[in-house]
Amino acid sequence: MGSNPRLFGEERKIDSMTTKHVGLYPGTFDPITKGHIDIITRGCRVVDKLIIAVARNDRKGPLFNTDERVEMVLHDTEPLRKKGFQIEVLPFDNLLVKFARDVGASVILRGLRAVSDFEYEFQMTGMNARLDAEIETVFLMASEKQQFVSSRFVKEIGYLGGDIASFVSADTKLKLEDKFKLMRLNEE
Ligand code: ADP
Repeated sequence: MGSNPRLFGEERKIDSMTTKHVGLYPGTFDPITKGHIDIITRGCRVVDKLIIAVARNDRKGPLFNTDERVEMVLHDTEPLRKKGFQIEVLPFDNLLVKFARDVGASVILRGLRAVSDFEYEFQMTGMNARLDAEIETVFLMASEKQQFVSSRFVKEIGYLGGDIASFVSADTKLKLEDKFKLMRLNEE
């Protein structure tokens, strides 16, 4: 803290007023849901600029390839950009904390759903903190209505012919339906 804590405090105050806070919201977004949008909207309120990092995650065998997922995230976040929020969408496949450094992000944003998310998120945050102690992870909760939405269930429900209109945007719903059609054709 040095010999003059008061001065240190004031310097910090000025620093935090002038520094732009860049947040990184990583995920697979396969596809982007209204739950993600809820978290992105909240994220935009707590950072000056939000970078949405779309994980390639080929090992998880995503339904949509990286370009398609980036494109869908860009499309669904356009209304927020129009409102003046700074949002960038980038694909990534390297170490998350390294990627955060590369893009100048000081905070990682994650969404928390139920207890089921907690253990994985808890471990990931702990590991990331060991890898880079200067990058904070902040958790946000979606509204009650979006709490239960997950990409995985949207895909399962949609594939089985259930109505997914309240979980994803109209554009994403159409893209999902196209994929399901292709999948069914391939199964024949
Ligand atoms: P992952 O493949 O790492 O689970 P996702 O694309 O599913 O990535 O999600 C990215 C982030 O968004 C994760 O932190 C996840 O917990 C969060 N998230 C996804 N859906 C919701 C939701 N309905 N409410 C709150 N957080 C959510």
